[in-house]
Amino acid sequence: MHDFQYRQGELYCEDVPLSRIAKEVGTPCYVYSHATLLRHFRAYDSAFQNIPHIVAFAMKANSNLAILRLLAREGSGVDIVSGGELYRARQAEVPTSKIVFAGVGKSREEIRDALKSDILMFNVESSAELHAIDEVAAEMGVRARVALRINPDIDPKTHPYISTGLKKSKFGISADRALEEFKLASSLKHIEVVGVHKHIGSQLTDVTPFVEALRKVLGLVEALKAQEIGIRYVNIGGGLGITYADESPPRPQDLADAISPLVRDLKCVLIMEPGRVIVGNAGVLVTKVLYTKEGEAKRFMIVDAAMNDLIRPSLYGAYHDIRPIREAAAHGERKTVDVVGPVCESGDFLAKDRSMPEAKPGELLAVMSAGAYGFVMSSNYNSRPRAPEVLVKGGEMHVIRARETYADLVRGETIPDFLR
Ligand code: PLP
Repeated sequence: MHDFQYRQGELYCEDVPLSRIAKEVGTPCYVYSHATLLRHFRAYDSAFQNIPHIVAFAMKANSNLAILRLLAREGSGVDIVSGGELYRARQAEVPTSKIVFAGVGKSREEIRDALKSDILMFNVESSAELHAIDEVAAEMGVRARVALRINPDIDPKTHPYISTGLKKSKFGISADRALEEFKLASSLKHIEVVGVHKHIGSQLTDVTPFVEALRKVLGLVEALKAQEIGIRYVNIGGGLGITYADESPPRPQDLADAISPLVRDLKCVLIMEPGRVIVGNAGVLVTKVLYTKEGEAKRFMIVDAAMNDLIRPSLYGAYHDIRPIREAAAHGERKTVDVVGPVCESGDFLAKDRSMPEAKPGELLAVMSAGAYGFVMSSNYNSRPRAPEVLVKGGEMHVIRARETYADLVRGETIPDFLR
């Protein structure tokens, strides 16, 4: 459920017509609904209300400061994967006691910054990283809290690029070697083992892989107990899918119902790292039709948003519904088109072979479900300034990131004297 609905013949975000936003900030632009964000966060958080838990929003999905702040005010922590994300989280005043740090390639500087910030824990992905954290913590005279990320070798049945819990994946420590790694971790002087972590993939549309992976992790927790390695936190990662087209993913309550019986008596705090399910359907990308073009073999609808603004279709072949902002235009004669952007790549498309109502130049379109892995994955390719981001709350619109300028594009670049 989201707050982008047709009213009086126009697509609105809450009480603001998207056409008004396009007029004020131009296109392309990202628009997020405050009400949808809140509702999604609360649905997730309250589904687990009977279990001690921390929701650590996976900020890789959307790291705008205003959105982080909004979620932090609701009680959310964050799952970070870089020093840059730590910086953003701190700027948004996310409590450091609710920050967990994953990723296979944490640098020593990032580890140092995170220890300085006294984050809740590192989710460690290899023994080499464990040693690096131990060394940095020793230099600083502190102990680092860690969870080990286990790769349970469970197929999440999603796109291969967003499957992370299979043997061949770069993430985590294999379940077979986990006990050994935990023993190593407990022997290191500047490491405090506090948890176990897993995240098997994104856009999961069934609870079964979650349950299977959790069972494996809980088997390990039992084995650790026998070795007197106490675990206080079990982190089940993120991954709950959303509806892009006609998927019917489980609701947070379904996930909670499936896993609660397994963790109820565990005496551990459950950590969850949802990203997409909180923000995905809370955002759209608004774009304008520039031209239509009849190719030899295909029809093209050329719009002003491109793969640099939203790379998911090019990268994963992902589907995003595309709706005209004028409702009347939605009922026009349909034709099969490729919706493409101005970037000079054949892979630059937002939709392929899509039945779309005919649209004239100037027509505004909303690319739906673009709130997760949208703006955060955007780039300046083809020297295109990145789009602005707007947060709508009721009848108010707030620009939460300004459109980049041409000057922004060259910031930090210099021409050396010998070229002058
Ligand atoms: N946690 C970790 C470690 C991840 O790598 C990811 C996504 O890649 C997430 C959480 C969030 O996943 P999702 O957005 O599918 O909930």
